[in-house]
Amino acid sequence: MLGRILGIIGGGQLGMMITEAAKKMPENISKIIVLDPTKNCPASQAGAEQIIADFKDEKAIQELAEKSDIITYEIESGDSDVLKSVEGKSEINPSPETLKIIQDKFLQKTFLFENKIPIAEFIQITSLDDLQKGIKKFGYPVLLKARRDAYDGRGNFKINSQEEIQKAYDYFHKKNLMLEKFVPFKMEVSVIAARNTRGQIKTYPLVENIHEDNILRETIAPARVSKEISDKSEKIAKDTMNVLKGAGVFGIEMFVTVNDEILINEIAPRVHNSGHHTLQSSETSQFEQHLRAILGLDLGSVKLARPTIMYNILGSRKFKGEYQPIKISEPNVYLKMYGKKISKPQRKLGHVNLVAKEGETTNDLLQKLKAIKDKIQIKELFAPQK
Ligand code: AMP
Repeated sequence: MLGRILGIIGGGQLGMMITEAAKKMPENISKIIVLDPTKNCPASQAGAEQIIADFKDEKAIQELAEKSDIITYEIESGDSDVLKSVEGKSEINPSPETLKIIQDKFLQKTFLFENKIPIAEFIQITSLDDLQKGIKKFGYPVLLKARRDAYDGRGNFKINSQEEIQKAYDYFHKKNLMLEKFVPFKMEVSVIAARNTRGQIKTYPLVENIHEDNILRETIAPARVSKEISDKSEKIAKDTMNVLKGAGVFGIEMFVTVNDEILINEIAPRVHNSGHHTLQSSETSQFEQHLRAILGLDLGSVKLARPTIMYNILGSRKFKGEYQPIKISEPNVYLKMYGKKISKPQRKLGHVNLVAKEGETTNDLLQKLKAIKDKIQIKELFAPQK
């Protein structure tokens, strides 16, 4: 069979790494086209053709569908109704139905609840009155969340006391909302799970995620938890994939509570930042796995060869503008920059993977990370004009 033309909605770093994986599979994929509003987006720098338009632009999605044999996404904010309408022109994975459920946190949680997957208690909020009632039920603190288009925690408001209720409600300007019980967690973890179009399911080992200001900073693979907890989490991830039915790679974020319960926080219907370690730690990266899943190929090995730490390189909080190139040459440290010219506060510009050598432990890697942190700081290219 000749290689197929792959369309990707979104051409940021995830689209870039999918493109790079696709380029290594020319017998399966002959060309990659991304839809992204930013000229010269990261994926286009990796060799994808680009349609420059908003992710939700109906005409652009139709054009992408006409030009592609198979469509996938690297962001969850594509318009699922438009995608559904072009399903006849191109195969779409994960399916628009799966996307529709996942991109709305309330629908996602309702779906998980109905399928007996463990999650925190939640309710829909359509008025201030609902909010008052919900808080009475759950107690403080609680999380008021925008149902859609929220990422890196920007769609959450933690309400600690009665005085904050009105402020939290006004913060969202009448967006569709849900309220969720606060989970006292001791660790945030995730499973990268894959399901191919034939229903084969594989999960990568559980990893530990450290966030700063709601943005993922560091992933430790494998997570420093008991076997019981990792087995339980991986089982929950598999159960989720069994009911979710979409094909592709999914990032399943979970909490390990203070009582060692596992609750799903959120599912991403795409490759995930907490799976970047697989580029070096595993035989099959999550990007190749995603392609295998949507193309209906057998899934690759998910074995973790060595402990690995992934550390995100984020834009400095102190400036916006061009930045000094990062150079690092240390054994077993792999730098990946995303080709973004401009740094903005907290913008994801790249990451490093630190892979353990024979006999090295996670603690050794943490020490090594400490020692190289200064080298991978984002520094302004030109000193500010006085
Ligand atoms: P989200 O955007 O909903 O994934 O949330 C971003 C971050 O907020 C998570 O990584 C958690 O640190 C925190 N968070 C979200 N939901 C809850 C919850 N129900 N209880 C405690 N912390 C939460």
